[in-house]
Amino acid sequence: MILTVASLKGGVGKTTTAIHLAAYLQTLAPTLLVDNDPNKSATGWQARSENGLPFRVVDVNQSLKVGRDYEHVVFDTKARPDKGELQTLAEGCDLMVIPTTPDAMSIEALMATVEMLKGLGVGQFKVLITIIPPYPERDGEDARAMLDANGYPLFASGIREAKVFKQASLRGMIVNQLKGQRAEICWQDYVRVGEELVA
Ligand code: ADP
Repeated sequence: MILTVASLKGGVGKTTTAIHLAAYLQTLAPTLLVDNDPNKSATGWQARSENGLPFRVVDVNQSLKVGRDYEHVVFDTKARPDKGELQTLAEGCDLMVIPTTPDAMSIEALMATVEMLKGLGVGQFKVLITIIPPYPERDGEDARAMLDANGYPLFASGIREAKVFKQASLRGMIVNQLKGQRAEICWQDYVRVGEELVA
């Protein structure tokens, strides 16, 4: 499977999602993460890792040669692609995963992305709600209801807001490599999304 994680806004958990979905897919079959974000966030994540990540990370320039050895490939991409870039990204994958946080500005950027994709005739995309604030805040549910009502293809599960994701990023780790129940609960958020992907 070739997955591309893309968004028209920064800070929505794009790289965190690419890293954790690659980690999930790696539990099933050899998985490659291609860092196609000029910020090189995924490459930096790997560089901070003491014991390495459970999957290989390569630059997009290396990906064609290396990619043939892998069952799954996850592309991290630059934030705010223009229409032409979005089209080539969509054409280069089986599914585009579009993360959004449940706040008005991100949702607006998401809607712009989806309208662009629809205008391009791209149908193979799915929206992932990320960094969902904890109960009693209702932002996650409200965003889901709104996106659902507008007919947006959504992952049934979302990703909660949790400090462990920041810790994992700082230490170049996957949340399931961190100790504690909280880290495991957060890993399961991405496992559920991964299960939806391969279902
Ligand atoms: P993007 O690639 O969209 O810019 P990142 O994955 O780099 O987003 O995440 C942006 C910031 O939010 C980072 O500091 C990251 O650690 C943090 N973050 C990502 N996902 C979560 C989450 N589920 N809960 C809390 N913080 C998160």
